[in-house]
Amino acid sequence: MKIITALPRRPFYSLEFFPPREEKALPAFFNAVAKLKALDPLFASVTYGAGGSTRQNTLNVTARLVAMGINTMPHLTCVGASRAALTSFLLSLRELGVENVMALRGDPPKDMPGGCRNQDFPYAADLVAFVRRFFPEFGVAVAGYPGGHPDAPTFREDRLFTKNKIDAGAEFVVTQLFFDVREYFEMVEQLRAMGVQKPIVPGILPVLSLNSVRRILGLCGANIPGRLYLALEEAHAKGGDKAVREVGVEYAVRQIRRLLDSGAPGIHLYTLNQAATCLSIAEAVGPL
Ligand code: FAD
Repeated sequence: MKIITALPRRPFYSLEFFPPREEKALPAFFNAVAKLKALDPLFASVTYGAGGSTRQNTLNVTARLVAMGINTMPHLTCVGASRAALTSFLLSLRELGVENVMALRGDPPKDMPGGCRNQDFPYAADLVAFVRRFFPEFGVAVAGYPGGHPDAPTFREDRLFTKNKIDAGAEFVVTQLFFDVREYFEMVEQLRAMGVQKPIVPGILPVLSLNSVRRILGLCGANIPGRLYLALEEAHAKGGDKAVREVGVEYAVRQIRRLLDSGAPGIHLYTLNQAATCLSIAEAVGPL
């Protein structure tokens, strides 16, 4: 089912998974997915390695999730990708009966000459237009950045570029992780003021450890409030990663309650393939 047709069901959880690199990790991974089915996710999304590095893993995991009865939306990145490679991936999705795809640019590899210029698909909006034109049966989602994308010259331009993706035919936005809910509501307000009426689903990342949060922040350029960072450091000094996780879970629960109380359509959980943490968050939030 196209996710956009199911989006009136509110509020909801959706779940993001990354495909394990190693075959031996698959049983534990699918076990985590089976446990997280208890959250009755509206959909699950599966990440894709920019440049196609995890293409087959994304397809394999997608196939299994579809067989588990989960409406699954694989991600697809266009940076450095040829038309032929994108077409072949989309044809494989069609064969699997997948009906939605998240269209992304991805991060250009450091050694790509000229960055992402001089390509067929320099930006995600180009991929959205390609999917709409040649695979019109697919529902398309795109990424949005409450704190602004790190490469964007200004916030205003970043919002304009997000709008471009909607204008190219994307049906909803899933946000990058953020820790200050005001960033999400400001982004929604700014996009609405630009005429974007499509659903904007906030992405929430539970903090599992200081190292993981440092790594993720380094990769995605999201902002972390000083008070939260200090609380995580203090927890780590007193009780290690277990204490950090408790602070992280409590913080995610507060974010989710505030988002849903203030009208967010649902919550996209960056599961990090960790069932226990996500289930304890959902339990603390209570029934949706
Ligand atoms: P775009 O929307 O193309 O934007 C990229 C940058 O270019 C932004 O700074 C934007 O402001 C700017 N820009 C856009 N259009 C123009 C224009 N016309 N002129 C000038 N500048 C422009 N990465 C992966 O590799 N695999 C994944 O599976 C994956 N999943 C993700 C899921 C979500 C929900 C999110 C939020 C991110 C995900 N990413 C993933 C990361 C993403 O690929 C990177 O953040 C990437 O740098 C930008 O991708 P985008 O689709 O937002 O690009």
